[in-house]
Amino acid sequence: MTRVLVVEDDPQLVRSLVINLQARQYGADAAPDGATALRLAATNRPDAILLDLGLPDMDGIDVIKGLRGWTSAPILVVSARHGAADKIQALDAGADDFITKPFSMDELLARLRAATRRGADRSPAGTAETTVVNTPSFSVDLFAKKVRRDGHEIRLTPTEWHLLEILICNPGRLISQRRLLQEVWGSGAGGKTNYLRVYMAQLRSKLEADPSRPRHLITEPGMGYRFEV
Ligand code: CA
Repeated sequence: MTRVLVVEDDPQLVRSLVINLQARQYGADAAPDGATALRLAATNRPDAILLDLGLPDMDGIDVIKGLRGWTSAPILVVSARHGAADKIQALDAGADDFITKPFSMDELLARLRAATRRGADRSPAGTAETTVVNTPSFSVDLFAKKVRRDGHEIRLTPTEWHLLEILICNPGRLISQRRLLQEVWGSGAGGKTNYLRVYMAQLRSKLEADPSRPRHLITEPGMGYRFEV
């Protein structure tokens, strides 16, 4: 059973989250503040954490830092803060995703599934994965490094491939601009988000049925990009 720790000080929201999680066969624990969250995480070892940032005793960012000292379990921030700076700060501290309140329960559960799937893939038991990822618009063979669309092979530049590969290997997961820039262009590329815009536009024009309304290579404004199957 996948265990989820809900860190939230609004009792109504806690109740609704716990009921929805349990209805989908998750185990759920709840912590109303940061200190309880850190204690419960250490004793119960959750597989994923849903974390509010505005907690009564400490800032959620510090909870992320405390957790990241010893666990790589996915942390999904669920917060009313919607500024890009807050989101970037949470991602940089080690959060895996950011969901803005008010949220749709279906979307939150989809993001949680994506985050826990990725967590499972990192474990030795999850290594026997297929190397072909199919979307309704295109398919990617990660082993052969080939992309096909409408029966034809699509040629990608090495940079386009590298970007696509990172996104495809993390389906449903928000990948920060900073991480993409570092992994593709190296540590000196920090602020060059215009590179990302240019290359993502190229990838969309090659892969998306309607590049102006992307369905698979999604921009999260100010934060990063997300691949949706
Ligand atoms: Ca709160």
